[in-house]
Amino acid sequence: MFDLKQCEFWFIAGSQDLYGEETLQQVAEHARIMVDAFDRDPAIPGRVILKSVAKSSVGIRNMFEEANATVSCAGIITWMHTFSPSKMWIGGLGINKKPLLHLHTQFNRDIPWASIDMDFMNLNQSAHGDREHGYIYARMRLPRKVVAGFWQDQEVCRRIAVWMRAAAARLDGERSVVLRLGDNMREVAVTEGDKVEAQITFGWQVNTWGIGDLAERFKGVSDRDGENLIKAYEAAYELASDLQNPGKNRTAMLEQAKIEIALSAMLEAEHAGAFTTTFQDLHGLPQLPGLACQRLMEQGYGFGAEGDWKQAMLVRAAKVMAAGLPGGVSFMEDYTYHFEPGREAALGAHMLELCPSIAVGKPRIEVHPLGIGGKADPARLVFDAAPGQAVLSTLVDLGNRFRMILNEIETIAIEKSMPKLPIARALWKPYPTIQDAAESWILAGGAHHSVYTNALTVDYFRDWAEMMGIELVLINRETKPLRLQEELRWNEAYWSARY
Ligand code: MN
Repeated sequence: MFDLKQCEFWFIAGSQDLYGEETLQQVAEHARIMVDAFDRDPAIPGRVILKSVAKSSVGIRNMFEEANATVSCAGIITWMHTFSPSKMWIGGLGINKKPLLHLHTQFNRDIPWASIDMDFMNLNQSAHGDREHGYIYARMRLPRKVVAGFWQDQEVCRRIAVWMRAAAARLDGERSVVLRLGDNMREVAVTEGDKVEAQITFGWQVNTWGIGDLAERFKGVSDRDGENLIKAYEAAYELASDLQNPGKNRTAMLEQAKIEIALSAMLEAEHAGAFTTTFQDLHGLPQLPGLACQRLMEQGYGFGAEGDWKQAMLVRAAKVMAAGLPGGVSFMEDYTYHFEPGREAALGAHMLELCPSIAVGKPRIEVHPLGIGGKADPARLVFDAAPGQAVLSTLVDLGNRFRMILNEIETIAIEKSMPKLPIARALWKPYPTIQDAAESWILAGGAHHSVYTNALTVDYFRDWAEMMGIELVLINRETKPLRLQEELRWNEAYWSARY
């Protein structure tokens, strides 16, 4: 799992030489106190690193050059303690390659009514210093997040943390690989896309390996290693009764364990953060990887079925953003609707591959036939998704840009038993209503594949999309499909003008 403490966030307080040494020392001291507090706050996921107070053009440019050259620097936080003339920032901001957060706060929470004088005013003047700073961001059309409020306020810290997690996912993507086993499913449009553009936009290298490479590794895994992994399964999950003793189905589970071992070694060898499979290309493997994919997702890998590398990439980004948070992240597919008036819901699942991090209760390993792919009966984890607020997110390629579509949903308990559907599944009510959500999603070209998470809210994805420079379409309680159709047209004009 991704360790967010690997990520450094540089904190630069802005000022200028004009104020004199004594004031500048105060500025530096205030910044130090704030950085210490952020760095110690368990709600702040990354390391916060204090940089020297920004006072001149050359000094600022040097800091941004150093940040660009520092791999572990995931983002930069700027705060104008005093008035820092923004022409000094043009050189540095112009070469910057890191995500930016403009923190608009001030060291003192309260105005000391009885004692306030011009000295106090001069040491607490972010209200106008940060306006000068905001102007240059706006003038240079720089993507950034603005967070305003008192720096000890919980909501301010939460919003900084959200941005940090998005920046960590961006950093992870810069050095990662999507390992594709086989190509996309034949004839399917939405899982296709421009892999060169994906690397330019997200950093991800999207490359293909033959399924034979995995089959070869699979053959090299011993039954004993597989049986050892099954001990971990027994500790973490329930096993169906026919899996507890030797037999055909126990062997099917053992084969999935051996696929997991082989695939895990392959992902590590190729430095991959995500992978795809396709049931149309399984030559040399006994089963479609089911349990193996579920287990690897649970360990933090991104996954996409039928060659869907965009969703694999997005699952991985969401896994990094959600590292250490309660809840989970899974690959998902919209499958079937329930249209009973007043109880409308959507049933999401896949052939096999949902991540148990979203499960309620203890998942159970079962072996059943699969009506597609023509291979042996695959082992899989069976569970229901935990009820509560969740988000669906998908990434599509529109030819001249990537569009992310988000839908806020509420997952509900599955009250009826479905004895003939032994797969992992989630039942949800999309906002605003099932009809309006589906119309909006379809108008926006949203895929049937998505990323499901009950660990993240839409603001994580929004920050990530802003850093990546991609379009975002949000479907929530306020969405009206006709209005959304207009929004999509405005977006078309905006994004076409950008390219
Ligand atoms: Mn699918």
